[in-house]
Amino acid sequence: MSADNLLATDSTPKPPYTVREAITSKDNPRIAIIRTSDRSMFKRCRRKWDFESAIRKNLAPIDRPSYFWIGTGGHFAMEDFHGHNYYGDPVKAFIAYCDACVLAGDKHRIQVPDDFEYQKDLGIGVIRHYTNWLRNRDPFETVWMPNAQGVSEPCVEVKCRIPLPIEHPDFDEIYYQMTLDRLVVRDGEYWILDWKFFKQFSATPLEFNGQMSAYIWGSHAMWDVPIAGAVYHEFLKKIPEPARILKNGTISTAKNQATSHIIYRDALEAMYGDPNKAPSDNILCLNWLADQEDEHRDKFCKRTFTTRNQAQLESEGERILMEVSEMLDSNLPLYTNPTRDCGWDCQFREACLMMDRDDDWESFIAATSISRAEESEEWRRYLK
Ligand code: SF4
Repeated sequence: MSADNLLATDSTPKPPYTVREAITSKDNPRIAIIRTSDRSMFKRCRRKWDFESAIRKNLAPIDRPSYFWIGTGGHFAMEDFHGHNYYGDPVKAFIAYCDACVLAGDKHRIQVPDDFEYQKDLGIGVIRHYTNWLRNRDPFETVWMPNAQGVSEPCVEVKCRIPLPIEHPDFDEIYYQMTLDRLVVRDGEYWILDWKFFKQFSATPLEFNGQMSAYIWGSHAMWDVPIAGAVYHEFLKKIPEPARILKNGTISTAKNQATSHIIYRDALEAMYGDPNKAPSDNILCLNWLADQEDEHRDKFCKRTFTTRNQAQLESEGERILMEVSEMLDSNLPLYTNPTRDCGWDCQFREACLMMDRDDDWESFIAATSISRAEESEEWRRYLK
């Protein structure tokens, strides 16, 4: 049976998701689309940017690292849960994503990771913990707005395209494109919210986070409402452990357990009926775990808030114009920037070495890469 046969029939309820329009400069060479990732790539290494950018070769490797894969699934789970909530549970949405990727795989040359089962279990664990984490925290309210047809839609995974006032002989239109993960109301103010799936929490102060600066700038241009700032929501790609049970059948009071307050509390409740009836050492441990957390973080999930004032937004806009003008320079020299990070942060390192060695890198690229438009969202067609 082909993957097409497995698509939902007309009588089956369909998820409210379609592959969204992904215009690239390849579709219309007179339109230039610049993404936020272009800017960081451009400054990281021009050759890497030349491989990946939508206004250059627009390539993605067929065999993508699993951290991209799980991040995309996590974003989809959040998109559904805080939007239409078609699946009713973000874990179910993540599983639907996993199943859709398998169905899309053969047809679109998109490979699921080699360690698919491990990554799937990891994603399920991370997202299941998020639903626990939310039990005593404000989920924030997703803003709904009418779309172009006047139908109210949740502001999740919002693709924005902002026209840039740059004159260029080769382009009729130049856009800055970004995807805003979610627009929320927090304490009566509008905030954009960005999901991140990391191995460890970011240590860089958010004031220096160029992506957040661009997103706040872009959301001001996109929506006719004042935007207070950005919420940077980080998921640690690690599953919390259940409270440790000792050989004598009691619950450990060790403080080095990789668990959270809510999980430990649930374990006490399961064993004693009421956590307050647990032994005092367990209650001390429970209180200690509570002290390590606050309304926006535990060891596995945290959200941080960042704002930009008007002067910062204006300088971000100027920076974007300067960088984009440089990217569109037809005489741009494409020199490389090899660093110790090439071994992990560049998916085109083999091709890069082949270019330097004057090997047949073009055949290698043809065999190992696909167009970004092709790989982007085809899995959405196979959601059930
Ligand atoms: S391997 Fe390094 S130098 Fe080569 S393209 Fe990638 S980032 Fe640039």
